[in-house]
Amino acid sequence: MRRPLVAGNWKMNGTRASVAELVSGLRKQSLPEQVDVVVFPGFLHADQVLTSIRSLDLSVGVGVQDCSPDPDCGARTGEISAHQIADLGCAWVLVGHSERRTFWSESDEVLTQKCRAAQQAGLKIVFCVGETLEQRESGISLAVVEQQLKAVLPLLDAHETVVIAYEPIWAIGTGLTAQPNQVQEIHAGIRAWLARCLGAGSATVKNMRILYGGSVKAANACELFAMPDVDGGLIGGASLSADEFGAICRAA
Ligand code: PGA
Repeated sequence: MRRPLVAGNWKMNGTRASVAELVSGLRKQSLPEQVDVVVFPGFLHADQVLTSIRSLDLSVGVGVQDCSPDPDCGARTGEISAHQIADLGCAWVLVGHSERRTFWSESDEVLTQKCRAAQQAGLKIVFCVGETLEQRESGISLAVVEQQLKAVLPLLDAHETVVIAYEPIWAIGTGLTAQPNQVQEIHAGIRAWLARCLGAGSATVKNMRILYGGSVKAANACELFAMPDVDGGLIGGASLSADEFGAICRAA
């Protein structure tokens, strides 16, 4: 019913040469037609990636990893607005990645502003949520995630313009993947919470794609994506290899 999505978060990686190699490597993969595939290069490489994806005629979406909370262009040295991102030709933006929440202390309030700015500019959003190891051990994972989602609840819609990515912080870049049943439990919990907030009959509840992220690789993707409420993945390290990323896309 929901179209799977596999997204590659390249983080602060790559040079012009390695990015060119990665994109041409993706062309050699048989990417499944029934899966949405999106890559998130760093800002500096977004234009290059857009141009080569177009010229290679790949059906891969392109987004960036952040945007300014300010909707308008103007005096914000060093920032990049959602309008500028859309103007470049990107369709997607990542908001609320745990690295930004942690290293840049991004609050729920700022993240809501970023989502609003992105929606005004017509960008689609992958909104990331997830708990720390300490929070998991205290049994409050779902409560933490619900709190993070509460801030953006009015911005969630049924038109597939927002995708939720559940990324437990303890699983990101650590090689510690959450077990498929742990992931399913949180994803089903998110959907149940959405149903409580929006009404069980709401199209948003049915259509919302919920991705899992955190040490996904080709070897564990199948069992994670087999879970009924896992609609794809947000892939960090493994998305830097075209072969590995291609295999993950096929697993979806
Ligand atoms: P990882 O990162 O796949 O390297 O764990 C996932 C992410 O941070 O989006």
